[in-house]
Amino acid sequence: MIGAAITGHGGIDQIHVVSLPEPEPGPADVVVQIAYAAVNRADLLIRQGLTGPGVRRPKQLPHVLGVDGAGTVVATGAQVGDTVRVGDRVAVFPAMSCEVCSYCRRGLTSRCAEYTLIGEEEPGLQQELFAVPARSVVRLPDSLELLDAAAVPAAYTTAWTVVVTTAAVRPGERVLVVGGGGGVAAAAMQLAAHSGAQVWTTTRSESKAARLRELPYVDRVFCTAGPGWSAEVLDAADGQGVDVVVDSVGAPSWRDSIRVLAPGGRMVVCGATGGDTPDISIRELYQGNRSILGAPFGGWNDFRDVVALLGRSGIRPVIDRVLPLADVREAHRALEAQEQIGKIVLDLGTGAGRTAA
Ligand SMILES: [Zn+2]
Repeated sequence: MIGAAITGHGGIDQIHVVSLPEPEPGPADVVVQIAYAAVNRADLLIRQGLTGPGVRRPKQLPHVLGVDGAGTVVATGAQVGDTVRVGDRVAVFPAMSCEVCSYCRRGLTSRCAEYTLIGEEEPGLQQELFAVPARSVVRLPDSLELLDAAAVPAAYTTAWTVVVTTAAVRPGERVLVVGGGGGVAAAAMQLAAHSGAQVWTTTRSESKAARLRELPYVDRVFCTAGPGWSAEVLDAADGQGVDVVVDSVGAPSWRDSIRVLAPGGRMVVCGATGGDTPDISIRELYQGNRSILGAPFGGWNDFRDVVALLGRSGIRPVIDRVLPLADVREAHRALEAQEQIGKIVLDLGTGAGRTAA
């Protein structure tokens, strides 16, 4: 079988489609034939060999990439009961943790001291067959296609953690998502709208702004040239500000993100793609009764709940493009250039495509 692996750290020339041995499942494992695997920003950081808080390097090279994947169970270990069967369509929950601490017992996986993502230190999901503990897969609702499901685990679990678990967005609130093109951003906008919020977003690209304006759940798009965009947002809000800001951009946007918050507003942080050390006014923050809340990924509960929501609501992930596994370098290039709106998904060539519109 084949998969997408890096042979070293650096540019996209480090990525290769390689031959891999078939997995040997343990007694509590299932083997999933991966149909689709989404590409995430985490893949880029792992490829580049970034180190720092929350970034883990592969234990060995070559390293198979991939945090997201969905497919069909083709084998189960001896100790796997009836909860997962051969033939089940599943998505893989990418967080691994100790399973016994107080956080894990409550489904708060990303708070566990041993929390790590599949595809970071250990091999990832961009391979045809993947062995994973049965407890780490969720059976998909019939209405959710494998292609859509592959875009869910990282982006939608994070977005659910941001919008529902952490910000607790309420109907009628105004939510501003900074940088609306990203996978988590697109998901957060959908979930905020589903919660009854008014959804605003920013982008630096005119062409992306035009595409974002076409999304039915986006109420207003601000095309921002650089720092200082908060003035335009505050104008549009009659000086009142917004209740919630979702920021995964980091240092370049924090000053504006804090400034647009209404008194008592909350900023939820789920990334720092543009930089890790912001220059902000602490007085602007606390004098406005504003809060900053961190939301790295999420827990099993969040994953389970967002999959269930997608199953019953008809909300479908925003998928920018689907590429064959052989084009994994192109997927990295496009994601790095921030060309996309929503997710870029790799087709492993093993499963059925999307059958519903
Ligand atoms: Zn734990």
